[in-house]
Amino acid sequence: MKQNEILEDGHGRRFYYLRLSVTDVCNFRCGYCLPDGYQATPKGPDLSVAEAATVTRAFAQLGTRKVRLTGGEPSLRKDLPELIHNAKTTPGIRRVAVTSNGYKLPSVIDSWHHNGLDQLNISIDSLDDREFAEITGHDCLPKIRTGIDRALELGVQTKVNAVLLSDGAQARLHQFLNWLKTTPVTLRFIELMQTGDNRNYFASNHLRGSDIEQQLIETGWQLLPRALDAGPAREYVHPDYAGRIGLITPYSKDFCNSCNRLRISAQGKLHLCLFSDTGLDLRETIRNGDADTLAAKVRALIGNKEVSHYLQQGNTGGTQNLSIIGG
Ligand code: SAM
Ligand code: SF4
Repeated sequence: MKQNEILEDGHGRRFYYLRLSVTDVCNFRCGYCLPDGYQATPKGPDLSVAEAATVTRAFAQLGTRKVRLTGGEPSLRKDLPELIHNAKTTPGIRRVAVTSNGYKLPSVIDSWHHNGLDQLNISIDSLDDREFAEITGHDCLPKIRTGIDRALELGVQTKVNAVLLSDGAQARLHQFLNWLKTTPVTLRFIELMQTGDNRNYFASNHLRGSDIEQQLIETGWQLLPRALDAGPAREYVHPDYAGRIGLITPYSKDFCNSCNRLRISAQGKLHLCLFSDTGLDLRETIRNGDADTLAAKVRALIGNKEVSHYLQQGNTGGTQNLSIIGG
């Protein structure tokens, strides 16, 4: 493997982390993401296993150390274990993570672990079974929790993503805190982001992460020092809790300063930002299996990365919903 200088943009940000979407299809109907379910549009096939391997090799040359497989719902792909294995065995890649809605977690987690999974992020916006079903359109929270228990037994580092929603936020926070007393997961509260599709939902459900953060600080949660190459999450610990809490607040000032990630969509487009106007099509180079040329193209394109997502100004770029390129 050629190891070039680590990829850096014109604003001094370095990119150690690739989010690789392996499908934009999803079986859930989360109210803020795909409220009417996945709508098929004419497009080519998702990246094949060989194409995903080419992408990972190219990014490893550029200094990427961590790969997250996401979607859509990545577990809809039967070959996900192979995708995990290939990413994990790519020279230069140290950590492989998957973000999933977890709907079949108990039956797949052993195989993901066996194939090299280091970190699992499961999305759970509420620990109330009924409310979970209302948000996602699927009444399967107990099964997902069984899968999380198994991931912890296997020693897989486990994080739970919870989108902050204004209505009923205090009741949900209370339930999450009870759970974290004895459960060693990191719960990451993600502030709801506006996308092209969810403007009305956003207007009625957005809750500032800083409100929850203030409450945590007042009840004894302590901010951990940030690692140099850490992303935008701020992580808190409390001596009375086995779990941790992370806050991801994309509307806060300077959020984009710590951006350390790039995204490739399941159609082989490079997204320099979650909210870019458009993806940059690299499919042909990916299809040719030429990791060196792909790495050179990514390096040439990095100069186009904007300093901010401009979400605060209401910009949602070309991002209709996050299932297209992964959150
Ligand atoms: N389907 C998988 C899942 O739900 O974990 C992976 C893809 S999903 C797009 C990745 C993450 O983005 C999830 O944690 C989801 O809750 C979050 N997400 C989706 N739309 C969002 C939005 N508009 N604002 C904030 N987070 C969002
Ligand atoms: Fe599917 Fe994830 Fe979007 Fe929910 S957030 S609809 S699980 S892609």
